[in-house]
Order: sequence, then structure tokens, then C-alpha cells
Amino acid sequence: MDLFEYQGKQYFARYDIPVSPGGVANTVEEAVAQAETVGYPVVVKAQVQVGGRGKAGGIKLANSKAEVETHAGNILGMDIKGHVVRRLWIEKASDIAKEYYASFTLDRSAKQFMGMLSAKGGVDIEQVAAEDPNAIARIRVNPVDGLSEAACREWVMAAKLDDAATDGAVDILMKLYRCFTEGDADLVEINPLILTPDGRVHALDAKVTLDDSSAGRHPEWDAFRGLAQLEAREKMAKDKGLQYVGLDGSVGVIANGAGLAMSTCDTINQVGGSPANFLDIGGGADADVVAGALEVINTDPKVKVIFINIFGGVTRCDEVANGIVEAMSRVEIHSPLVIRLDGTNTKEGHEILEAHASDSMMIAKTMIEAARKAVALVGG
Ligand code: GDP
Ligand code: MN
Repeated sequence: MDLFEYQGKQYFARYDIPVSPGGVANTVEEAVAQAETVGYPVVVKAQVQVGGRGKAGGIKLANSKAEVETHAGNILGMDIKGHVVRRLWIEKASDIAKEYYASFTLDRSAKQFMGMLSAKGGVDIEQVAAEDPNAIARIRVNPVDGLSEAACREWVMAAKLDDAATDGAVDILMKLYRCFTEGDADLVEINPLILTPDGRVHALDAKVTLDDSSAGRHPEWDAFRGLAQLEAREKMAKDKGLQYVGLDGSVGVIANGAGLAMSTCDTINQVGGSPANFLDIGGGADADVVAGALEVINTDPKVKVIFINIFGGVTRCDEVANGIVEAMSRVEIHSPLVIRLDGTNTKEGHEILEAHASDSMMIAKTMIEAARKAVALVGG
């Protein structure tokens, strides 16, 4: 499981690795509130699981409330390499004298851990490895022996960091090693690891991949999981050309058209339920599209029932009904379906669906009736 930067920093903080104070924000208002708490200047950082956010415009310095508003507004909703930014991390800005790179990962072929350290940080480490491989100092650590402070210091010297950074780097790397091993990670990476003008060494970014095989030992990882899954689901929907927004409730929603999808969410709320998502499948509703939408919603453990709300216009209801039936034969769905189908050829559409109706596939005539059925299923 990959962690978001702010989760990685929380993980680091448990091992006493210095990180900047900050807070999470899902809206511009929350971003301002976090900035006011932390104190200006702050850095507004897009939380997506992909590197190169800085270059993509997802990391911005803000000196005032107005600047936080501008940057948070621009970054929320931004698409960074196919990842839509849904949340921000607002942290106290740091003064930077130098940017380094540090990581621990597994060297599977050598059956050892491998640390990498470079005085050329802040940039893409693959680029450094390609253009100037000697700028990366590597250390191999036998997992049984562990990392001694003496070996760590030698490694830091080999990386030719600035003298002022040596003690701080040794201290952080010893802690990072503990975080990597005791924390059951496959990768811990700090890029950049910075030296401040007043001589402190500090983690400015965090990339952590946890070893899923160790999850049984770490009940506390559950707190990280929901967000990672949501991000994966949003990416999956995007790849399928679907408009998906994850929400907190238990009723999965599939509708055609953004307006209808929004009204569907409202109607679910109106009858006392809560939508698990917004999902607009667009104009058509053929088997491929419906199957794709069901696959996306299927990966959401919060979903207890799926409400399919389709208005047949240019795409007729009988075509839609055939699409739904075909999609159901292709995808093994974990939750019961409640379907409301209206518009052109409603009667033909219902006939097709009714032939397949069961306890796990119910048909409703109106939107409100469908919403009530779906919400009743969640309650009961
Ligand atoms: P990435 O582009 O996804 O790796 O995001 P980072 O968190 O590594 O940020 C990218 C770059 O933004 C860093 O290398 C820094 O140069 C700059 N940056 C990030 N945080 C700060 C900060 O607190 N102060 C300053 N001056 N620059 C920052
Ligand atoms: Mn980085």
C-alpha cells in the first residue's frame, strides 16, 4: 500500500523524523484555516500518489490568506498525470539551503536492504542515476545485522553532503532505517531531505510503501487504507471514461448525465440515506459502460446497495436494459441492485429487466421509490 505524503509524514513522525507542522484540507476554506493555524508562509501541496507534483504546479508557496485561496483553488481538482487532486496538505514553509535525497528499499536479488543517499536531491532520482550515477551513495544492509551508526556515518560521508548536515543526516537516517524495518515498509523515500540555513536537517517530502503482507501486524494501517482505495477507484473510473467522485455513504450510484447523478444523490439524502459516490456514465448506457461502472463501485467496501438511475433519451430504455442485463452477467456484483429506468421505450425496457428481477435486482418505477427501496435495504 502506498501512502499519501501527509500519511507518510505521520508515519515518519512516529519514528521521530523531523517534518514540518501542517494539516489536511479538502476545501479552500479548510486550507485557509490550516494556514492560519500553522502561520505564514505556508506551502500548499497536492496530495496525489504520483511524483513530480512540484513541476506540475501542485506545490505552491503562499505568504497570505489571499495566496492560499488562489493556490488551493487552483490545485484542488487539478489533474496531475491522471490523478485528480481531492485534498491538500498545508505545511509551514521551510527555508532551504540544500536539497538531498535519501531512501531505503529492498534489494531482492542480494537479499539485503539498500539505502541510497545523494547530495543531488529535490530532482528526479532516476535522472540523477542516469546522468551522474556516482552522485548516489549506496549502502547495503544485512537485515540480521542491522545498520550501525558507524556504517551510517561512513555512508553519509561517501555521499558528500555538506559538513553542517552530517550529524543531522546520520540521526535521520538511523530513524528512517527503524521506520523502514520496524514499520514494515518496502520503500521509504525522502526527496528532498533538506538542510536549512540554520543547520537543521529535515524531511520535506515523504514517500512510503507499506508491505501488505505485514498488514496483520498493523491494525493502525486501516486508517490509511480508505484514502488509498478511493484514489485507486477514482483513477480506475477515469481510465474507463467515467465521471466518479467518492463520497462517504453506503448507496452506490450509477446515473446517466451529471444532473441526474446529482439529483440521485440528493434523493438518497432526502429519504434518509447517504450516497457512496457520484458516478455519471454519460449519454450512452451500453453493456461496456454499465459493466465498467459496476466494476468501479464493486471495489468500494462501503457500498451496501447500488442504485442505477437511467433516463433513456437518445439511448432507448430497451437498449439500456439489455446493457444492464449483459453487464450483470459479466460482473459479479457484491451488492443488490435497485434500478429505475424511465424515458423512451420504458415499457420494453421494464419487460427485459423484469425477466431477470430477483431479491438482488429490484426494479422501481420512480426515482423516489427506487431511493426508498435502496435505503431500506441498507437499513435492514
Ligand atoms: P514532488 O515534486 O511531488 O516531489 O513534491 P515535493 O514535496 O518534493 O516538492 C517539490 C519541491 O518544492 C521541493 O523539491 C522544493 O524545492 C519545493 N518545496 C517544497 N516544500 C517547500 C518549502 O517548505 N519551502 C521551499 N522553499 N520550497 C519547498
Ligand atoms: Mn519530492
